[in-house]
Amino acid sequence: MTSSVSDDPVAVGRKKLAVFKFASCDGCQLSLLSCEDELPALAEQIDISFFLEASSRIGTGPWDIALVEGSITTPEDEQRIRSVRRQAATVVTIGACATAGGIQSLRNWADHDEFLRCVYARPEFISTLASSTAVADHIPVDYELRGCPVDRYQLLSVLRDLIRGRTVRLPRHSVCLDCKRRGTVCVEVAQGIPCLGPVTHTGCGALCPAFNRGCYGCFGPSAQANTGSLIRTLAEGGLPEARRVALFRSFNAAAPEFRIDERAARSDIGSSGTGRGELS
Ligand code: SF4
Ligand code: SF4
Repeated sequence: MTSSVSDDPVAVGRKKLAVFKFASCDGCQLSLLSCEDELPALAEQIDISFFLEASSRIGTGPWDIALVEGSITTPEDEQRIRSVRRQAATVVTIGACATAGGIQSLRNWADHDEFLRCVYARPEFISTLASSTAVADHIPVDYELRGCPVDRYQLLSVLRDLIRGRTVRLPRHSVCLDCKRRGTVCVEVAQGIPCLGPVTHTGCGALCPAFNRGCYGCFGPSAQANTGSLIRTLAEGGLPEARRVALFRSFNAAAPEFRIDERAARSDIGSSGTGRGELS
């Protein structure tokens, strides 16, 4: 049996939260669900009206806060995300899929029809777009939380700020700065390990370099990411062109700053992205 929020007298006066899923693996929603210690207190401060991963309750809009996981990959998604925007005062996108198109955006460089023919016995029944795009390519978004998955503590912090009406402040510096802060010796300089830390958004605490591996950019581009300079440095260090392309082509491949093609990966050209909405 389902109920709307108006059926719940306890919820009156609290902000209403809805959590929506688009094309995604559910990992970012699970990040929120895995906050076992914090969720009971959070649930007392906010009315979790619609969160199908957690509850069969189907509350109706309008909502104060909408968390959106996943990218836009079907015509139905395009309609649904506009409906979410109309009904939500604040829209927060969570994770690499929602903020940059996710790993599924690799389709943007492939033959979409060929994929359909290879995967589905009856491709004529499949209704899907040729590209996977970020939510912000379709609607105005208030806050973007990056990462694959999103950092649960950053998510909780933003939710608390929104519940209390505080200004949400999201840092946008690079993973490199976090390495310096935690005293990690640069893996690129000291060991020659290719690392996207100089152009990758903070949020993980510089996890990978702390374990002697290069950052592969799962938190997407940082503010003013100078990908052209990094590509030249990687080329000078001997990383072949194909590997330079592959390094950027993962969870955030379609983020404008990471959206490089083979031509842009050449060290003499470099890239600072092609701009949102212009798939290369
Ligand atoms: S960003 Fe990563 S963890 Fe989150 S839904 Fe997408 S693939 Fe899953
Ligand atoms: S160091 Fe880079 S790849 Fe590793 S978790 Fe952080 S952002 Fe992701």
